[in-house]
Amino acid sequence: MATKSLASCIFCKIIKGEIPSFKLIETETSYSFLDIGPVAKGHALVIPKYHAAKLHDLPDEYFADTLSVAKKIAIAQGLENYNILQNNGRIAHQEVDHVHFHVIPKPAASDEEG
Ligand code: 5GP
Ligand code: ZN
Repeated sequence: MATKSLASCIFCKIIKGEIPSFKLIETETSYSFLDIGPVAKGHALVIPKYHAAKLHDLPDEYFADTLSVAKKIAIAQGLENYNILQNNGRIAHQEVDHVHFHVIPKPAASDEEG
């Protein structure tokens, strides 16, 4: 599958290793890493290796692997409670214009004590 990159995009730079990241899982068409500003411990991002700003810009063939990686992260982290979140556009709180899926663990209140 073809990859597509944009030189000025920070997530394309992360894929190429030009910006460091804490890599979790990498496949032929997806890359996942820990969010630099986690809203919960283990907050991860999964991105396709194809520069598309919004979900509707991303070719269909990238969806399955990207979501499969999100699933693998949930399994690897042993998550039972979590959100998959994907923002499109500033009003919808998208800050980085490269499609990304957040994997946000939701620990039970008892897990957060201490
Ligand atoms: P958005 O608001 O666009 O859905 O989410 C963008 C996410 O990317 C934010 O949660 C933010 O913390 C994360 N982020 C932005 N820049 C970087 C970076 O350089 N490295 C990493 N690991 N995460 C980043
Ligand atoms: Zn990009």
